[in-house]
Amino acid sequence: NEMNVQWYPGHMTKARREMEADVRIVDMVIELLDARAPMASGNPEIRRLGQGKERVIVLNKSDLADAATTAAWIRCFQAEGAHCIAMDARGSGNRKLLMRTIEAAAAAKRERDKKRGILNRPVRAMVAGIPNVGKSTLINMLSGRSSAKTGNKPGVTRGNQWIRFQQSIELLDTPGILWPKFEDPAIGEKIAFLGSVNEMIVDKTELAVTLLAFLETNGKLEGAKERYQLKGTETAAEMLTEIARLRGCLMAGGEPDTEKAAGIVINEFRSGALGRISLEEPEGEAHGTQNTEG
Ligand code: GDP
Repeated sequence: NEMNVQWYPGHMTKARREMEADVRIVDMVIELLDARAPMASGNPEIRRLGQGKERVIVLNKSDLADAATTAAWIRCFQAEGAHCIAMDARGSGNRKLLMRTIEAAAAAKRERDKKRGILNRPVRAMVAGIPNVGKSTLINMLSGRSSAKTGNKPGVTRGNQWIRFQQSIELLDTPGILWPKFEDPAIGEKIAFLGSVNEMIVDKTELAVTLLAFLETNGKLEGAKERYQLKGTETAAEMLTEIARLRGCLMAGGEPDTEKAAGIVINEFRSGALGRISLEEPEGEAHGTQNTEG
């Protein structure tokens, strides 16, 4: 039941090159990960580009993830030496916490500046992450704008626009967009569940069936079972047919419209209607050991 998601659009190569240029002029990289799948939604390239810079990891969309699992991920990233917090970028509830975290990550640079007699030089940060992880939402929240440059428009070519806030933090107003790496098909699958893969290249029905099978295999089907009145003994494909019937998704001849049902399942998973579901747990946490590789 494995999908093969393999796609690296040309403009993403351009995005990487532009991000390489951007990252040279910042002191820290604020890397957004999806709290539901912090590994699959990460890109080792961002880490490589950000080497030598302070690392702030934001586990975004934590409102959709299992809270205890997110807490375990935070411990895991902190053990690696990163600053890490969880948040919901749509509200301003976590704004102060994020500011404090950025300030903590900036402390060493401020200290260095002070020793060299440099005063009041702002700390510069860039937000980076894969598509749809919430970069624009986070930048808007920080800058207090109701709408900024949303959509996947990468690039340094807009002549670096900075958003200044707090006393002395400057944020590059265009995020670094990087495509996830699909070395492992399981990664592509999770990224597709989250909606970070171009919908054009994914078969909706296949995606929904794969998702239901994944939830079943990993003991996370409870919410879907309840919501769709499933028995739990069906195959994933049968579940989809059940859901089509239940939701009245029928084609002209009265046959269940599984593609329509697939759309419902995917949307309801993504909006959290099937529960707060984490797709990944940090390894070793269950055994009380620390995970050092990510
Ligand atoms: P970008 O492609 O990384 O810039 O992502 P966007 O900022 O455009 O956000 C993609 C979608 O995720 C939008 O529909 C946002 O409203 C939504 N979103 C962003 N942050 C959060 C969050 O913390 N929680 C939830 N539930 N949705 C979020």
